[in-house]
Amino acid sequence: MNTQDTGQVYGRVALIGLGLIASSMFWAIKRAGLAGEVTGYARSAETRETARRIGLCDRICDSARAAVQDADLVVLCVPVGAMGPVMEDIAPVLKPGATVSDVGSVKRHVIEAVQPHIPEGVHFVPAHPLAGTEHSGPESGFAELFDNRWSLLVPVEGTNPEATARLRALWEGMGANVDEMDADHHDLVLAVTSHTPHLIAYTMVGVADDLRRVTDSEVIKYSAAGFRDFTRIAASDPTMWRDVFLTNKDATLEILGRFTEELFALQRAIRTGDGEHLHDYFTRTRAIRRGIIEAGQDTDAPDFGRGQKK
Ligand code: NAP
Repeated sequence: MNTQDTGQVYGRVALIGLGLIASSMFWAIKRAGLAGEVTGYARSAETRETARRIGLCDRICDSARAAVQDADLVVLCVPVGAMGPVMEDIAPVLKPGATVSDVGSVKRHVIEAVQPHIPEGVHFVPAHPLAGTEHSGPESGFAELFDNRWSLLVPVEGTNPEATARLRALWEGMGANVDEMDADHHDLVLAVTSHTPHLIAYTMVGVADDLRRVTDSEVIKYSAAGFRDFTRIAASDPTMWRDVFLTNKDATLEILGRFTEELFALQRAIRTGDGEHLHDYFTRTRAIRRGIIEAGQDTDAPDFGRGQKK
């Protein structure tokens, strides 16, 4: 039967790497019947075993090459630093006319690592869903993760428009809003909205951890909402975030430089008692929070809406 008659976007989809993003993609694909069959592969036997036990993917394979055999779409869902080697491994067995995509949080580096291995006749459409939680692994995914979140497609020069349109249909079918963006612009925007905030959260929790040795367990016992939110972000997967900073170096350092300048200005305002500066600054930042809520990207509930999710 033709995929167009069934609502399917692809006949066979292969997910390489079976963590939060891949498992959420599988459940979202199943929810909407977007693929005939979904195969999966993860590096460790333990993850593959867990996937089989919980029914993640229609078929779990013991090699990446077996998983991508005859796939119409292959999505690389491994940490950014592993994308190139995984692509090199599967390249010889990809079906002509297939599309390769990824979900990496950094785009320029992934394009440079993956594109040289894309065989003639195979399409490459990089992508990045702007959705996640601090949880990782095959059991952390859920079908609603991408609902009303943005997924950015980052077509490279010469990308086949039909391949891009089909991948857009898949992401829309999984509940996401889809936009296209250039790789360098993507990396700068994400350095502002995601990468640098994560680094700041890691730092703040590290500082509190040092302090904890002085104040015993008070930091944990009396942890207020601000600190608790930092700890949630700082609980994110260490491998994923190590790779993000190593591969989005320039944009992150640029934004960190600006951050440091602003921090010094606020530090000076506190030291000199410049309340007007502090008040004006906090008024401006409050408006940004309002904008995010108005854009439907978070709720105004006291738990920031996270209570509804896993
Ligand atoms: P995750 O939950 O930590 O899972 C990573 C998966 O990749 C695991 O199944 C792991 O296998 C596998 N893997 C790691 N190295 C591998 C290798 N060399 N070869 C084959 N498989 C390998 O990760 P995730 O959160 O889903 O993130 C996956 C990708 O999505 C990353 O590129 C990340 O930047 C991007 N992303 C993440 C988020 C987020 O918030 N988490 C949001 C958007 C995009 P084992 O379990 O066997 O080790």
